[in-house]
Amino acid sequence: MLKDLFIGLSQNQFLNSAAKKYGLKLGAQSVVAGTNIEETIRSIKELNAQGISCTVDNLGEFVYKREEATEAKEQILEVIEAIHENKADAHISLKPTQLGLDIDYNFCLENLREIVGRASKYDMFINIDMEDYSHLQPSFDLLDELSKEYSNVGTVIQAYFYRAEEDIKKYKDYRLRIVKGAYKEPEEYAYQDKKDIDTNFVKLIEWHLLNGKFTSIATHDHHVINHVKEFVKANNIPNDKFEFQMLYGFRKDMQLQLAKEGYNFTTYVPFGKDWYGYFMRRLAERPQNLNLVAKQVFTK
Ligand code: FAD
Repeated sequence: MLKDLFIGLSQNQFLNSAAKKYGLKLGAQSVVAGTNIEETIRSIKELNAQGISCTVDNLGEFVYKREEATEAKEQILEVIEAIHENKADAHISLKPTQLGLDIDYNFCLENLREIVGRASKYDMFINIDMEDYSHLQPSFDLLDELSKEYSNVGTVIQAYFYRAEEDIKKYKDYRLRIVKGAYKEPEEYAYQDKKDIDTNFVKLIEWHLLNGKFTSIATHDHHVINHVKEFVKANNIPNDKFEFQMLYGFRKDMQLQLAKEGYNFTTYVPFGKDWYGYFMRRLAERPQNLNLVAKQVFTK
């Protein structure tokens, strides 16, 4: 299946490092905001001008060297400063494996502590993105540890995991992003059927909207978005209790429309040289995105 092929390609470490040497290729530029902070701040300001807030992801994964994790931390600190200096409406999304989770848990925790501490000075939120199952519990452990000192941190619940319901109840007092889940996971831990995932996704969103702190509904699925609009209306849930999120470059008209309708809207803005794995996962989710690739290849 195409999905499995692209997930496999996204995890190919040789291709991941080879792609870093080149700029954005294969159409990745339509879904990645830029390769440096200046370009990215420009993109954020454009979105802000249209009433859209941003969460910024300095792309990177498969980090097994301390120097690379330290470099990623320094870049994220620079992004935090740039957001503050430019008075941009944005916060940070980050991946623990980029900050050394596969090297040493405590090293990763220290990197995160520095980032969350710096962001807290500016009252800026840090979202710990969720990766594959093998990193799920350690990522929650990082969150537990960080929230002993800071309140500007939250995470993601992936609806394809059987344990998601238990997790959402445990973390109800956090700002949570709820997603379907982007990685290929075995039947042992995760629903495989799209219908089961979608059903659990809606159930978790409704639960957190009713019982939780702030809910970020991160999806391009208009069926789910329309359902949420009805649900919040029927349950008198005010707009300041939730937002919709989509990825940069996807369903741009719908992003604008939701912002115009008065909903809080945040675009996930990825940037950086490490674009390959992210781009392959987007192709896995929606092979129609191959049109982007075809256009780039044939218009060269
Ligand atoms: P899908 O199930 O892909 O699509 C459902 C339906 O929506 C489609 O059948 C189609 O009708 C419509 N649709 C979808 N996309 C389009 C489009 N581009 N144009 C037109 N129609 C479309 N995953 C993680 O595992 N960890 C994370 O931390 C994480 N963070 C995320 C943050 C954000 C902001 C977003 C949006 C996603 C994130 N994801 C994350 C990915 C997520 O788990 C899903 O893999 C991804 O969003 C695809 O699922 P979907 O809900 O968008 O809808």
